[in-house]
Amino acid sequence: MPLKATQAIVIGGHNLGEADRIVVFFSRGAGKVRAVAAGARRIRSRFGGSLELFTYGRLLYFERPNRDLHRVSEFAILHPYAGLCAELGRLAAGAYAVDLLRGAVEEGEPPGGLFDLLLGILSELEEGRPAAPALRAYEVRLLALLGYLPELTRCVGCRRSVPEAGSASFSPRQGGLLCPVCCDAAPDPFPVGPEALGFLRGALRAEFRAAARAALPPRALEELGALLRAAYQERVGRSPRSAGFLEAVAASPTPAEPTAT
Ligand SMILES: [Zn+2]
Repeated sequence: MPLKATQAIVIGGHNLGEADRIVVFFSRGAGKVRAVAAGARRIRSRFGGSLELFTYGRLLYFERPNRDLHRVSEFAILHPYAGLCAELGRLAAGAYAVDLLRGAVEEGEPPGGLFDLLLGILSELEEGRPAAPALRAYEVRLLALLGYLPELTRCVGCRRSVPEAGSASFSPRQGGLLCPVCCDAAPDPFPVGPEALGFLRGALRAEFRAAARAALPPRALEELGALLRAAYQERVGRSPRSAGFLEAVAASPTPAEPTAT
């Protein structure tokens, strides 16, 4: 079995047998990797607490050719992203971000820019910045990297260009924007105001950090949340498991946190 080395982030896992754990990593070198960490649940496990969700580290694993379950040799922590677990809102946002990626990629698919995007969103969330714009920027770029980006400049009905200053609609099923004339015939139109439209287009051009820190009115954030979720669901075929958790946490009143600038 060849030994592989790559940077990786823990994006999931479950227990196996008496003492082992199956860990799902997203790696810079090989994308999604599932591997058995033998003895990980023993008190004196050599893995210690390194296999917790969100942990970023250097992974050494034995690749079992033609199998989708490999074997972890070592996982050395580079950054645990422990700050994500310090507050429920951040934990829910981080779990949602990880689930979006995990649900959309299969083992063996090349990671492209997805690894850096995942590191980017975990860093933004750990810093305690507002989660909603960061997650919306993450979703747009995730869709783009997966090749699922909807049409955001022209109407998918009549091909006329949709100006940013006006309002438009978005149809997940038709795969993009609709002008006010065509939206009447759409089966599933979502409203998109000028701020939301400007954000969608800008989030693809700007650096991720800049897009993630955009100041948006609540209405635009709501529009973006709804249409990006629907666009993901349309293309991936399911919604992320932790979406309900994120909504429940967002709906519960929490003390306002000071935000760093
Ligand atoms: Zn049209």
